[in-house]
Amino acid sequence: MNRRTLLKSGCFVAAASLIPPTILGKTLAKKEISAGRQPAGFRKLKLGELDLFVLSDGYIRDTNVADYSPRADVARLKSILKNNFRPVEYIDMAMNILLVKTNDKLILFDSGMGIFADANTGKILKSLAEAGFSPSEITDIFISHAHPDHIGGLIGKNGTLIYPNAKHHLSKTEFDFWMRATEKDFQNSGLIKQLDFLKTLLPAIRNILTKIQSKISYYDYQKPLYGNFSFISAPGHTPGMTLVKITSGNDELLVVADLVHNDLILFPHPEWGFSGDTDLDIAIASRKKILNQLAETKTRIIGYHLPWPGLGYVKKTGDGLAWVQEVFYTPT
Ligand SMILES: [Zn+2]
Repeated sequence: MNRRTLLKSGCFVAAASLIPPTILGKTLAKKEISAGRQPAGFRKLKLGELDLFVLSDGYIRDTNVADYSPRADVARLKSILKNNFRPVEYIDMAMNILLVKTNDKLILFDSGMGIFADANTGKILKSLAEAGFSPSEITDIFISHAHPDHIGGLIGKNGTLIYPNAKHHLSKTEFDFWMRATEKDFQNSGLIKQLDFLKTLLPAIRNILTKIQSKISYYDYQKPLYGNFSFISAPGHTPGMTLVKITSGNDELLVVADLVHNDLILFPHPEWGFSGDTDLDIAIASRKKILNQLAETKTRIIGYHLPWPGLGYVKKTGDGLAWVQEVFYTPT
């Protein structure tokens, strides 16, 4: 019996099941260790003439499922998770950081959790090294918005810049908002339920923005940059959140950052909102408008928190929208 017929007949499964699970487990574990392989922290791809790398900063585990989408019917939200074989006790969010290499630029899209990292996050510098680059080589950082999971990796614990040679691009609206934000600015946000968190968040963000201030270059939404990049305002999640359209030859990719945080919940239900949205009404309006446009135009996108590596498409379904993950057939 060759391997194909063995598999087809189901004998292979039966044969495997005859081996005591303890022995099977031990054999596999030993093999993994001797191979000395770590999970890949980056994925390489081409976009026209450009080299792209998706780098992992790890993932966020949100255990506050009841407040994940402030306007959701929580029972329905949990049934969506359950029906898709996901845990209902927590929602995981990837941390997909894009790196783009042009002829003369090396551009990072956001910086990960950095000084705020827990055991599951803060992997960006390791992933960057695995991809073959060092922080000093980064020429530009396109910051989508100033939440801690996007700017925490810009400075070290001692306050020095992690990317000392990089221009730090940011929306002027975003900078101005966080430099003067108070709790009053979150009346229409799920964050108002977490006042203590807000009270520590605001000075922490201000501290980082102050440290990078001399390196900041504000986005010009009317003018493409370096020939391949143009910027689109998507307010609501934060007032100055900025998406980046990358074009090279006939290829195009839209970096949607935190327009949408979950593949199963916010595509069919953008109206449910997300707990971190600064203004739920504005965020929901932006989300609905842009996601519908992306479905119309069949644009390829990458989402910061969508399942690794965050690449895919939005499609229209009978009654709404759905995420279609781009699939890969090799690990790298
Ligand atoms: Zn985020």
